[in-house]
Amino acid sequence: MGPRHRRRQNLGKRPNLMGPREEHWRRVCEDHLWDVVVVGGGATGLGIALHLAAEGRKTLLVERDDYAKGTSSRSTKLIHGGVRYLQQGNVRMVKESLRERGLLMKNAPHLVHDLAFVIPTYSWWRRWYYWLGLKVYDRLAGRLGLGKSRLLSVAETLAALPNAQAAGLTGGVLYHDGQFDDAQLAVALSRTAAEAGATLVNHCSVVGWAHTSGQTTAAHLHNHLSGERQTVRARQFINATGPFVDALMAKDQPGHHRPLIRPSQGVHVVVDGHFLPGNTAMLIPRTDDGRVLFAVPWHGMAVLGTTDTEVPHATPEPTPLPAEIDFILTHTGRYLTRKPQEDDVRSVFAGIRPLAKAPSGTTAALSRDHTIVISPSGLLTIAGGKWTTYRKMAADVAKVVRKKLGDPPNRIDTKMLRLRGLNEPPFPAQASKLNPTELQAAVQFAAAQTQCMTVEDFLARRCRDLFLDVQAAIAIAPSVARELAAAHHQDDAWIARELAAFRTLTAQYLPPSILNPG
Ligand SMILES: Cc1cc2nc3c(=O)[nH]c(=O)nc-3n(C[C@H](O)[C@H](O)[C@H](O)COP(=O)(O)OP(=O)(O)OC[C@H]3O[C@@H](n4cnc5c(N)ncnc54)[C@H](O)[C@@H]3O)c2cc1C
Repeated sequence: MGPRHRRRQNLGKRPNLMGPREEHWRRVCEDHLWDVVVVGGGATGLGIALHLAAEGRKTLLVERDDYAKGTSSRSTKLIHGGVRYLQQGNVRMVKESLRERGLLMKNAPHLVHDLAFVIPTYSWWRRWYYWLGLKVYDRLAGRLGLGKSRLLSVAETLAALPNAQAAGLTGGVLYHDGQFDDAQLAVALSRTAAEAGATLVNHCSVVGWAHTSGQTTAAHLHNHLSGERQTVRARQFINATGPFVDALMAKDQPGHHRPLIRPSQGVHVVVDGHFLPGNTAMLIPRTDDGRVLFAVPWHGMAVLGTTDTEVPHATPEPTPLPAEIDFILTHTGRYLTRKPQEDDVRSVFAGIRPLAKAPSGTTAALSRDHTIVISPSGLLTIAGGKWTTYRKMAADVAKVVRKKLGDPPNRIDTKMLRLRGLNEPPFPAQASKLNPTELQAAVQFAAAQTQCMTVEDFLARRCRDLFLDVQAAIAIAPSVARELAAAHHQDDAWIARELAAFRTLTAQYLPPSILNPG
């Protein structure tokens, strides 16, 4: 059967196997030998776990914190080919990403949707220049394209972007890309992987390795919620820890490891939706440091970003720099009539790009392609890539694993694999907008079906309050803590600890001037 005639596969007909986290941890305690252990529960690790489990491998994934806690909840929320990479001449990567965009829209229509983007232009030749470039973009998307790019008049540009700076406007160019909720896609991947047979445990780290004859044969795990330790063995370990791949490789080969990635930080600022009224995103085609900047409508707010700042090392909670917030507000302000100020900021978040290292040059110029490396110990590490290409990255890893283990050819094609949740009501974006009954139902569902264990898990990555409106997140946190405590049979001391931890965390998500006015 050719690819055109193949049916979209649906693991969703099986019973939901995600179930409580304790059940998955029990499997880890009882079963010490796995085909594959994947370390890291971001886009990369979850995609790999899904692929390998769907191939029928006995797969375990462990995540130090929560699914998508790292870079994978801090993206610009675009499933895109990358207009900027086209500008850089990386046609192969753009084509591959556009193909993945089209596949994901078919496999997860409940999680990814078409979004119109407008580039407002202030000179005639630029308007034509961008239009020509976007025609190439359309062409590369082929039959998986979302809609044709076209030139807009001044009036059409202002109709699409009512707050765009009108003085000097010569019109604009409209094109299409995909938009999604990154953390919700991660949850859907984890549930689909569980249905395919994977075991997944969040809040569980790999803290060390064991070797036999120089080969990595076991991983030491630490369950952060129960304090328990376990050692698991596997035929293949996969390091998919994004910005932390070097730390884990260095543990595997102490003294012999040369860094694989060059971490670069990207910040987003969230302001009220009235700075970007309507359903159209804006692309600012050139910033002072030669990149593009987005203003994207998302869950009723506007997400502005991003930056590209090289950082010495990755941290789980990267701190947005005041200069980065200023850069974003200044650049978007140039293109808007009503300009957002620091007081308008509802949330700020930073993520670290795990970019594969190159000898020199700025991090903005580094490739977003992925790299797969096998250490002398046999540990497989994958670095780089984009959310958009997670499926292709997983397929590439699966191919390497098969070859390395000498296993028979592939039995699954994830190009046609539907992700979980198509027939479920969408999960709410903001807990603060729910009534008490709705909140209780959302917390119960998240706790029972998605391994939502902490107040932060719920308010940052099941709902997105922390990323949308920090003050609203703080206000609703006590109600969430009470509901979650009931779901997980926790006491008042647990609630107090959770609320204190969440309150401390929120300081990372607001500019200092808002936290400490005056
Ligand atoms: C600012 C910014 C904007 C972006 N925007 C887009 C976009 O719009 N579209 C797009 O396609 N891509 C985008 N990207 C790229 C995309 O977000 C990343 O490529 C992707 O999320 C990386 O996923 P990952 O799984 O490799 O890393 P991560 O998401 O960081 O996951 C790694 C995980 O490993 C865990 N971990 C670390 N150490 C251990 C350990 N010892 N044991 C167990 N677990 C461990 C971490 O807790 C973490 O959850 C953006 C990136 C940035 C930084």
